[in-house]
Amino acid sequence: MSYVDEVIERVVKENPAEPEFHQAVREVLESLRVVVDANEEAYRRDAVLERLVNPERQIKFRVPWIDDNGQVHVNTGYRVQFNSAIGPYKGGLRLHPSVNLGIIKFLGFEQIFKNSLTGLSIGGGKGGSDFDPKGKSDREIMAFCQSFMSELCKYIGADTDVPAGDIGTGAREIGYMFGQYKKLRGLFEGVLTGKGLSYGGSLARTEATGYGLLYLTEEMLKCNGETLQGKTVTVSGSGNVAIYAIEKAQQLGAKVVTCSDSTGWVYDPDGIDVAALKEIKEVNRQRLTEYSKYRPDSQYHEGKGVWTVKTDIALPCATQNELDLEDAKLLVENGVLAVAEGANMPTTAEATEFLQKSGVYFVPGKAANAGGVATSALEMAQNSERLSWSFEKVDKKLQEIMVNLFHNIDDAAKKYGFEGNYVIGANIAGFEKVVDAMNAQGIV
Ligand code: NDP
Repeated sequence: MSYVDEVIERVVKENPAEPEFHQAVREVLESLRVVVDANEEAYRRDAVLERLVNPERQIKFRVPWIDDNGQVHVNTGYRVQFNSAIGPYKGGLRLHPSVNLGIIKFLGFEQIFKNSLTGLSIGGGKGGSDFDPKGKSDREIMAFCQSFMSELCKYIGADTDVPAGDIGTGAREIGYMFGQYKKLRGLFEGVLTGKGLSYGGSLARTEATGYGLLYLTEEMLKCNGETLQGKTVTVSGSGNVAIYAIEKAQQLGAKVVTCSDSTGWVYDPDGIDVAALKEIKEVNRQRLTEYSKYRPDSQYHEGKGVWTVKTDIALPCATQNELDLEDAKLLVENGVLAVAEGANMPTTAEATEFLQKSGVYFVPGKAANAGGVATSALEMAQNSERLSWSFEKVDKKLQEIMVNLFHNIDDAAKKYGFEGNYVIGANIAGFEKVVDAMNAQGIV
């Protein structure tokens, strides 16, 4: 059995009930086959892949908090510090009832390669909790965040591990967590990113993942003789990534006709009204049912359906495995040109394979959504020098990072004979830097 197959088999056996983690490992290792096979003896001897798929450390803890009626609740908190070969662990904190160790491990594993692709010095990590922020009062959110950070603060720091936002963790939650960290550790330092502008946050961080997704998509299209100008785009989600993806797509001349949340989706034939969407989601924290009040000609549908709409470019920006084989078939039937992942692993393995085989340009999340973590690293740089850069400066750096990132994955794919396969290109380009650093640092 080949070394790659052996390690995949062991991961499945040793980490039962973690299907998302298996999926992520399988996808990465399958892409690395060409590199690993060429170095099989040395990699096997040095257990390179075993060291890569086993987190350096995983922390699981109790998070007790009291609701507004005096009832005590207990959630589970996680931080998986996956790989620090190229820098301090970096990755978001997800607050969602679906969170479990396997999901955090899949996200942390992906983060290693994504962070490497940014070209910046950041290792891979991820964390979160099965706490559901929906429907909670502001005081309850604060109680949870303080309790969560009371434990997490023992394991993180500006030079060791720097968490950020993710699903369910926005500026409000980061603020409460930062306050608690500062109180307990007595340190005002860049221990979290995605902070408010008044206490060390970076301009353009809020926009970064969505904007970065579009900078990369535009570059990819350009290199294939296409452009966003005049294209129809479908987006899923209506959170941080989706909102700023829609905004930038429209600035670049495309028309975005959909968005969604976990209960339904909107079709707006005249193009999504971003100002209305921001008011509904960022200010009022409401459901998408409200959208038709702003745009009477739009349609609201319950359930799932964004991928049934005819589109040139599909940008899944909600959550993992939200675009399956059936969706992929419909997209291809409707003539989709490109799919770029704003969310982490939103396309199932079967759907990815189908899209690629059908000649659709497909960019995986670890490359396409790396603008968020890249700008988080720029926030860390600003915190270290105690300076704040202008929006234009950060945005320009983000643009450069995404354009370079695209060329790195494109070149890696070409170098190994897989031209146009951006999944293989991203995994190989991300892996090469990490494995080089791991080898240089010895068996640790
Ligand atoms: P938000 O919480 O801001 O938004 C998530 C959006 O997806 C919401 O519209 C939410 O709907 C929807 N959603 C979440 N879970 C589900 C589900 N199970 N089924 C259907 N819809 C769902 O998160 P972000 O925008 O920050 O993150 C979106 C994705 O992008 C995630 O995969 C995240 O890991 C990834 N990502 C985020 C980065 C960032 O900087 N924020 C950076 C890189 C990747 P509802 O409001 O109803 O829950």
